[in-house]
Amino acid sequence: MSAPEKLQTRCVIVGGGPAGMMAGYLLARACVPVIVLEKHADFFRDFRGDTIHPSTLELMHELGLLDEFLKQPHQELRELRAVVNGQRVPVADFTKLPTHCKFIAFMPQWDFLNFLSSHAKRFQTFQLYMETEVVDLLIEDSRVVGVRAKTPRGELEVRADLVIGADGRHSIVHTRGGFKQCEFGVPIDVLWMRISKKQGDPKQTLGFFQHGKLLVLLDRDDYWQCGFVIPKGGFDEIKARTLPEFQNELVSFADFLRGRVAELDDWSKIKLLTVQINRLRDWCREGLLCIGDSAHAMSPAGGVGINLAIQDAVATANLLAEKLRSGPVSVDDLRKVQTRREWPTRLIQGMQVFIHRRVVTGRASGRRNSLPFVVRLLKWFPVLRQLPARFIGLGPRPEHFRSPTVT
Ligand SMILES: Cc1cc2nc3c(=O)[nH]c(=O)nc-3n(C[C@H](O)[C@H](O)[C@H](O)COP(=O)(O)OP(=O)(O)OC[C@H]3O[C@@H](n4cnc5c(N)ncnc54)[C@H](O)[C@@H]3O)c2cc1C
Repeated sequence: MSAPEKLQTRCVIVGGGPAGMMAGYLLARACVPVIVLEKHADFFRDFRGDTIHPSTLELMHELGLLDEFLKQPHQELRELRAVVNGQRVPVADFTKLPTHCKFIAFMPQWDFLNFLSSHAKRFQTFQLYMETEVVDLLIEDSRVVGVRAKTPRGELEVRADLVIGADGRHSIVHTRGGFKQCEFGVPIDVLWMRISKKQGDPKQTLGFFQHGKLLVLLDRDDYWQCGFVIPKGGFDEIKARTLPEFQNELVSFADFLRGRVAELDDWSKIKLLTVQINRLRDWCREGLLCIGDSAHAMSPAGGVGINLAIQDAVATANLLAEKLRSGPVSVDDLRKVQTRREWPTRLIQGMQVFIHRRVVTGRASGRRNSLPFVVRLLKWFPVLRQLPARFIGLGPRPEHFRSPTVT
């Protein structure tokens, strides 16, 4: 067996998702030598969320990238509407937010990540290795000093002053780092499938709530990416019924899909995505910091996970870039990132847990065709729709670009 290829850098980031790519971009921009390792060959994956929130768009503005970013194909959602127990109701109004973009942009995540990586590659201090899967951490005297990865060309060792784990909710970094995790029970899973689009279909991404159940349709140009919430562990029970029964259930949420649900003619076309909410007790140790889903797995509720992951990346660059440029950072420096980002995370996860236990449970509730009281309030008092808009669109502590740019 040949000896592993060896690289040395200031910061190595595991995972090229929203957290990893944004952290890589910002650190490279601040002249910190950085290597991002991504296990897949491209960013094209079906299960990724597509929402770019106003706070992330504001960040794009602060970085001078907004105009070019908005030239990428996307849709703009200025008002979030839902169909609740058959009635169309406005839920969030983004038009009054104090940001340049008063909308959520729907953009396939692979386009977003390609955009970020193409800009990051303009900095000499940035390197991206695709098809490079981290399999272990290098630890010396209890300090994390790098990672070991496998690539199609053989083994790779990257040594660095700082390892950032941004490898999502099944993070090998937090497992090998020996971090303790608090798990919050989530009573739902999501079934993920595609149904073709037709002329005359509604124009925007939609959420259909019905007595504790939810069907979400994401507009992906020529098809609907559908997410159907089911009780956790309930897929086998659904499969025990017939496929037409399942198809009819979808039609009961969105009648315009009638005649097309037959495209789901095999259970293999319906993928099960397990939903988790958890959080590390400590996000860092000497030489290692976890951010994004690696530090706190998010549920799809509110579509805020990408945003939160990006906010972690911005805080990381703001707090660490200057020091990292000249050398290693201490565990106290790393802890500042956790201190800054932990309470917004706790707040959002608390809200997600509440939604899953009380609102979207995946099980039919007893109530019939009435609107929940909170939804009625939103319908009666338009001004109240600015509250969910702020919570979803900006989050509890939006981060602003402050790390130094070195040209
Ligand atoms: C069904 C579902 C739907 C969702 N929909 C939305 C939505 O619409 N909007 C939203 O904001 N959030 C959504 N979320 C949450 C969102 O996906 C996450 O919160 C967000 O992607 C976290 O970003 P991240 O960069 O931390 O991790 P990830 O997006 O998971 O990225 C991690 C990256 O690391 C790579 N990686 C993993 N292991 C390794 C390894 N060993 N070596 C190298 N690379 C590795 C992965 O390939 C991946 O590219 C959804 C979640 C689920 C489960």
